[in-house]
Amino acid sequence: MAVRRPEVLRSFLESERARLQVEIAQIDADGATNLGYGNHMADDATEAFEQAKDLALRQNAERLLLQVEGALDRFEHGSYGTCERCETEIDPARLEALPYATLCLRCQQRLNT
Ligand SMILES: [Zn+2]
Repeated sequence: MAVRRPEVLRSFLESERARLQVEIAQIDADGATNLGYGNHMADDATEAFEQAKDLALRQNAERLLLQVEGALDRFEHGSYGTCERCETEIDPARLEALPYATLCLRCQQRLNT
């Protein structure tokens, strides 16, 4: 495997997964609390804003969690660090910067342009 320190990346991904799961659970718990007290101090506009913010945060956390879980899956299957498109090895420096990257830099850039 091309990755210099796969175990370090793997444990980083595992702690990220735990962190994101807690974050999502907290957002959900906050949301449930807000719904439980319909008539509190915040006016409707503030409340709608807070809900939209929570939703955006939750969606971000969920998206990240999926990426992290995908990366852990690839560890399981021994395909971690291999580009999904061209199947070359992803630059280890790139993986250290972005441990859940699924594409090599070249494919990523091609996708973005
Ligand atoms: Zn590639």
